[in-house]
Amino acid sequence: MTASQTAPTQPQRRALVTGSTSGIGLAIADALADNGYQLVLHGIGDESQLEQTRSQFENRHDCETPLFTTDLTRVDELDQMMHRIESELGGVDVLVNNAGIQHVSPIEDFAPERWDSVIAVNLSACFHTTRGVLPGMRQRNHGRIINIASAHGLVASPEKAAYVAAKHGLVGLTKVTALETARTGITANAICPGWVETPLVIKQIEARAKASGRSLEDERHDLVAEKHPSAEFVSPEQLAASVIWLASDAASEVRGIALPIDGGWTAR
Ligand code: NAD
Repeated sequence: MTASQTAPTQPQRRALVTGSTSGIGLAIADALADNGYQLVLHGIGDESQLEQTRSQFENRHDCETPLFTTDLTRVDELDQMMHRIESELGGVDVLVNNAGIQHVSPIEDFAPERWDSVIAVNLSACFHTTRGVLPGMRQRNHGRIINIASAHGLVASPEKAAYVAAKHGLVGLTKVTALETARTGITANAICPGWVETPLVIKQIEARAKASGRSLEDERHDLVAEKHPSAEFVSPEQLAASVIWLASDAASEVRGIALPIDGGWTAR
């Protein structure tokens, strides 16, 4: 290429990561921004904390970043968010369905409203966001839908009925999305993490320590060693690296997989 020729500039790709104000989602958003994506952040919680997370993110990546604080259990508000992202921002190239919640209880004591909210956030919201991005992605003939499922999308544990059902459902939804888009430039895949030390898991370690009277450190060790043959946690950055790969052109024929990153948990 001569000095007078310039490489065609590609428009900056945009990514929405649900639940990106904390934990795994924030690490994925950071990695996507580091790889040149313009981010749309999303999460719920204390307003001033969310704003602080957004401004720290903007400082880290030197870019203006929209933040949506939509409660994903409210389908009409979720639809409005997806409509605004398409009409005001021009849609997204990458959708990462990451937001998730947990509730731990035996089935007989499992409060029905807890069942409803775990299914709503971890499964139904992923259907609604997918429904929201597909028309724009089809028009542009390009897109990546990456669902953060879980090892619990592949195997079960007691006392996690709603979570296990939702994550198995999400793996199923991923396969259907992949098949319906198989003749297009859109792909859909799921990542199935084992234990990652985030607020969602720290709450479970604290609950175990409270119930057993043992130290947090002991419960932390046992929680991971019970499931991971490696006895090591997975890091949010390791998951983020897989998202970057699935979003890349190199993964254009990776369709409908459920990729375990779980210290060997589901190899047993
Ligand atoms: P986290 O609690 O740190 O983050 C969850 C995010 O979801 C937050 O940003 C929160 O704002 C958002 N969220 C929760 N309820 C919401 C609602 N009603 N509306 C909108 N947003 C909502 O959790 P995490 O550990 O980072 O988990 C992220 C994803 O990874 C989840 O889907 C989880 O199931 C999955 N996962 C986590 C682990 C783990 O060990 N941490 C393992 C496997 C899978």
